[in-house]
Amino acid sequence: MEVSETIQCPYCSQSFELVVDTSVPAQRYTTDCEVCCRPFEVQVECEPGEILSLAVQGE
Ligand SMILES: [Zn+2]
Repeated sequence: MEVSETIQCPYCSQSFELVVDTSVPAQRYTTDCEVCCRPFEVQVECEPGEILSLAVQGE
């Protein structure tokens, strides 16, 4: 089950949507900003269908 959440790039502060697969309860992965293309880490905790917490961290 996928849920979209708005996240903010830690470098350029641009907000954009991230789609999270909420069937995985704890996730950590690296994604690239759609605007400045710099990679940052996203940590997500979720229940099926709902995001409990989401944090972004630059390197
Ligand atoms: Zn950016």
